[in-house]
Amino acid sequence: MVTSTEHPSHEHPWGDADFVGGHPALDFLNTVADKGKTRVEEKLMQWRDMHAWAAAAGLLAPGDLKRFRQHAGLDGADELIGLRRFREDAYEAILDVTSGRGDGRAMDSLAVAIRDAIGRSTFAAFEGRFVWRPDGQTAWRWVDAVALAFEHLMRSDDLGRVRQCGRCTWFFVDRGRGAGRRWCDMRTCGNRAKVEAFRDR
Ligand SMILES: [Zn+2]
Repeated sequence: MVTSTEHPSHEHPWGDADFVGGHPALDFLNTVADKGKTRVEEKLMQWRDMHAWAAAAGLLAPGDLKRFRQHAGLDGADELIGLRRFREDAYEAILDVTSGRGDGRAMDSLAVAIRDAIGRSTFAAFEGRFVWRPDGQTAWRWVDAVALAFEHLMRSDDLGRVRQCGRCTWFFVDRGRGAGRRWCDMRTCGNRAKVEAFRDR
């Protein structure tokens, strides 16, 4: 694993501040942080970070998460690189879609990933409705699981309420009324923006 030597025993401590997106697909895009529009602070340093993130984010049904964890040997260094690459491609797609450019190359790639994920998944009953359940025994399983989250988001009314933070690159579903939410989190970007506005007066 590329990064395990840098952080042999430390895993990212996911907290409430990591889940401000309002949807697991957006929270997944927000596993990179920054203070500008740079996407430089990687939080998925090792597979354990992803496993812990998925549990906290509610990405998978509990039974599916357990099955994924039973086959942790499928999660290798190349797969982690692939998952991060998928995340950055999906980021470009959501950036395009929310800017009114829904027909770009990035969206084409995301559409292919979603179609492939569905092709490897089972359509099965879960808590009174039917959902796509990703195959936990392929090397693509985490990309599939996240791609299915995007499929869910992009078919929902929430898509029209997806906004990007005015300061960093995090996305969130704006469920508020009125002027609308400008920041991913008032505790971080909102406060920093206020301080900067005060300083610039
Ligand atoms: Zn922000």
